[in-house]
Amino acid sequence: MNRRNFVQATAAGALAAAAAPAAGSKMIGIQVGAVSFVDEGVEKVLDVFQQEAAVNTLFVATFTYGRGIAGRQVPGQPLPDHGKQQYDNGSGPGTFQGGAYTKYQPEYFKDTVLTQFRAPDFGDFDVLEAVIPSARKRGMKTICWFEDVWGGPDRVPNVAQAQERRFDGRNAGTLCFNNPNYRNWLLGMVENYARSYEIDGIMWGSERQGAFANAISAAHGGTPQNPTGVTCFCEHCERKARDRGINVERARAGFTALCDFTAAAIRGKRPVDGYYVQMWRLMLRYPELLAWEMLWTDSLRETYAAMHQKVKAVKPSIGIGWHIWHNNSFSPIYRAEQDLSELSQYSDFLKMVMYHNCGGERMVGYIGRMTKTMFGDVPAQELLDFHYRVLDYKQEKPLATLARSGFSSDYVFREAKRAREALNGTTTQLWPGIDIDIPTAPTSSKSTPQGTKDAVLAAFRAGSDGVLLSRKYSEIRLPNLRGAGDAIRELGFA
Ligand SMILES: [Zn+2]
Repeated sequence: MNRRNFVQATAAGALAAAAAPAAGSKMIGIQVGAVSFVDEGVEKVLDVFQQEAAVNTLFVATFTYGRGIAGRQVPGQPLPDHGKQQYDNGSGPGTFQGGAYTKYQPEYFKDTVLTQFRAPDFGDFDVLEAVIPSARKRGMKTICWFEDVWGGPDRVPNVAQAQERRFDGRNAGTLCFNNPNYRNWLLGMVENYARSYEIDGIMWGSERQGAFANAISAAHGGTPQNPTGVTCFCEHCERKARDRGINVERARAGFTALCDFTAAAIRGKRPVDGYYVQMWRLMLRYPELLAWEMLWTDSLRETYAAMHQKVKAVKPSIGIGWHIWHNNSFSPIYRAEQDLSELSQYSDFLKMVMYHNCGGERMVGYIGRMTKTMFGDVPAQELLDFHYRVLDYKQEKPLATLARSGFSSDYVFREAKRAREALNGTTTQLWPGIDIDIPTAPTSSKSTPQGTKDAVLAAFRAGSDGVLLSRKYSEIRLPNLRGAGDAIRELGFA
């Protein structure tokens, strides 16, 4: 081949590659915690990932105090068909405690009181040191995956100095994005990852929302909470509110009225004009309620942007993006806050949670909560139908059987297609989070190989750039992982 032919061939190859991404370019990721590598061995775990599901990207849980992405199977759920056949509750060695599953350098945490957060679970074990060399040898990428879930003062020295302030004046267990102790910790953490390890990316997740949405219980978990526990009303947030021209005293008056409304609604005390009308009356009288919600949302966005900027300043080739909470699939308020054209400005990728199997149970929970607050006059099935309409779900089950059946793969298709369209014209990659064996109640739907396969096929049919098998390998059963792999192989991505 002479030089001219070579140039032509290379150019043609480059054009073909640009027009149709090579089969291997799809991101096939899986979330995995340190305990799986400790229990089963690094090489063994990576063998399984490659053989069963053609995984090419590891999302290693590097920091959390929660058991959703770290630790073994949660108690009360059946143990999976691999790994140590025991739970890690109780006490003593092997007990899940949480924190950082990597070493970290103190120099990155000079501007925060949060300096002691190493997970004691596995002594000196550093999950990135243990995994990255083997992953690189296999051509697998490694992404640090950490989340906005913290331990209390008994676990984390000084954490109270970074915590949010509840409406009732008490400290919350959550940390405030406007508190320099937390903001600087987040920036220090991403700098630590970017400078200390040969990583390919960083993903962070925050499954929270503002005080207004929380006060009316617009989320899927548990029963309606004490509305006076909503956040954040700390000095940093109040100062930021004043800087934005929000009248803090009016906001407090509004939240007092809203908390009274919710507390009465939970007790079944119907307002004279009904729940929905009374809710609107409060929003009209106190526009500060929504302003306070947006203050919280903007603070999260600014946190994303600051972390993105920090990583790009250290090493531009490291991708950084976010795990977007499942509430995006239930609450129109939370969905409105996830404005992807806005988020795309500081997101190399988005893991949008589209957990089809547990999604049914979670939607039932969300509807149950909302029928106890602003939609107290609406029968639950009617409220579910309304949400199916406004969220654009077409083939989902009625309330009576939804938890037992879960959402269909059409839900995954619709959510992925919507996100893909919202991200068109941006460079942000869309990686739907796929549910494999996320715990549900005994009477609720359970993952199957076919259901998992269909969810993965639906995500790619909608134009996704990858899939992220979730939430953690230590709760995933191998036949269901293989189901995801069947889809990936069928599509020619393996
Ligand atoms: Zn605050």
